Amino acid sequence: MNTKQELIRISKLLEQKGFTNAFQGNISIIDRNLGKLFITPSGTRKLTLTEEEVAVLDMDGKQLEGTVKKSSEYKMHLAALQYRPDCTAVIHCHSVYLTAFSMLGETVDPKCHEEFLLTRGIPCLPWGKGGTSDIYKGLEEQIKYHDIVLLGNHGALCVGSDLEKAFKVLEAVDNTLRAWVLAMQIGNGKVVDIPIWDELIKQKEKAIHNL
Ligand SMILES: [Zn+2]
Repeated sequence: MNTKQELIRISKLLEQKGFTNAFQGNISIIDRNLGKLFITPSGTRKLTLTEEEVAVLDMDGKQLEGTVKKSSEYKMHLAALQYRPDCTAVIHCHSVYLTAFSMLGETVDPKCHEEFLLTRGIPCLPWGKGGTSDIYKGLEEQIKYHDIVLLGNHGALCVGSDLEKAFKVLEAVDNTLRAWVLAMQIGNGKVVDIPIWDELIKQKEKAIHNL
C-alpha cells in the first residue's frame, strides 16, 4: 500500500466513525526522505477520497500534486511534525466528544481508566482562528509530551509514529471519553479514580522516556 492509499484508508475509517466529514478535519502523512507531505484536500468528502485528489506538498507548503486545493490547515500539520520528529502522521478531527471538551477550555484529565494513560491528560490550547497559525499557538510546548491536544473551541489534533497508530490512539481515547461522560451522568458526577493512578503515570513516563 502506498502513502496515498494509506491516507485514503484511514480517511474513510475516520469519516465512517464520525470523526471527520467533508468540511471538518484533515489527515496527513509526511515522507521526510522525499520532502513531501500528503494531506487530505479542502472541502472534500473523505469517505470517497481518490488518489488523484490527495494533495502532495513540499516542505514549504507548495502543492505539487492533487486535483483539489490542499487543506487550509497544512501549516498546523507541518508544525506538529516538526515538533515531533518521532512521528510521521497527523490527524486533526472534530470527533464529537473531543470537540465538546475543547469547548470547556481545560485540560481533560480523567484518572478512572487505563486508556487515559495513553495521553496522560489532554491539554487544551486557547482558541485561534482556523486556517491561521493562531489555531496552533502553544502547540510546541504541549505536543512534545502529549500525542493528543485539544484545539480550543474547535476540535483535536493527534500525532503518531504512523497513521494507523495515531488513529488507534484517537479511537481508544474518544471511546473512553464517551464512557466517562456516561459514567459521570449515571453517577451524578461521581466516578471512582484508579487508586494507584500516580504510580501508573510514573511507570508510563518511564516507559516513554526509556528511563
Ligand atoms: Zn478543524
